[in-house]
Amino acid sequence: MGLKAEAVVFDLFGTLVPSFSTNAYEPCLTAMAADLSVPLASFRRVWNGQLWEDRVMGRFADAQESIAKACHAIDAHPAWDAVERALKRRLDYERSLLTPFDDVLPTFDWLHGRGLRLGLISNCAMELVPLWDETELARGLDVSVLSAAVHLAKPDPRIYELACNRLEVQPKDCLYVGDGSDDELQGAQAVGMQAVLIATRPDPARRRRPVPHWDGPRIEGCAEIKTLLA
Ligand SMILES: [Mg+2]
Repeated sequence: MGLKAEAVVFDLFGTLVPSFSTNAYEPCLTAMAADLSVPLASFRRVWNGQLWEDRVMGRFADAQESIAKACHAIDAHPAWDAVERALKRRLDYERSLLTPFDDVLPTFDWLHGRGLRLGLISNCAMELVPLWDETELARGLDVSVLSAAVHLAKPDPRIYELACNRLEVQPKDCLYVGDGSDDELQGAQAVGMQAVLIATRPDPARRRRPVPHWDGPRIEGCAEIKTLLA
């Protein structure tokens, strides 16, 4: 395709790593509710509904406070050690999500070898923030922008501009690659980035939104970026 870029910015879930696994998520949520001695259905409603935006925008002091606030919203007041136990389960689950697809790290190496800079923009809950820097993915990227850490989320233009500033590239010289959730591709285009849809193979165990309508470039795996840039 011959696209030209000085940097590539990736989405995380559904792009570099699989999207949420419903198989693993339900036991995690059930165990958290048991740790906190709260009804599962009410906890789920608040944690993934009412408080979701606050968790993604990082509006709590830390992940412990986000769990405590979810309990307070259903009139429960768990002891601090119960909150810590629930958080540990959530962190173990979050860590289990962070194994990249096989072609991701080799593609990072290839792109770095061509002199490109690499970034990430993820709409993620606060639990990812303390874990992120220890991952091999984070070490393979030059810049990581996590919504919960910067209090901005895609498709807000400011989060893309922040990533470009940190990468020291103009948006027009930047390729944005994502699976299309949260209107991220349109958001990238709106600031002048070149956007590419990645439509990874569907896995029945994973929760995945339908591939959004997209007329622009499309790839089926990270390694195909090499073809786009060739
Ligand atoms: Mg995604």
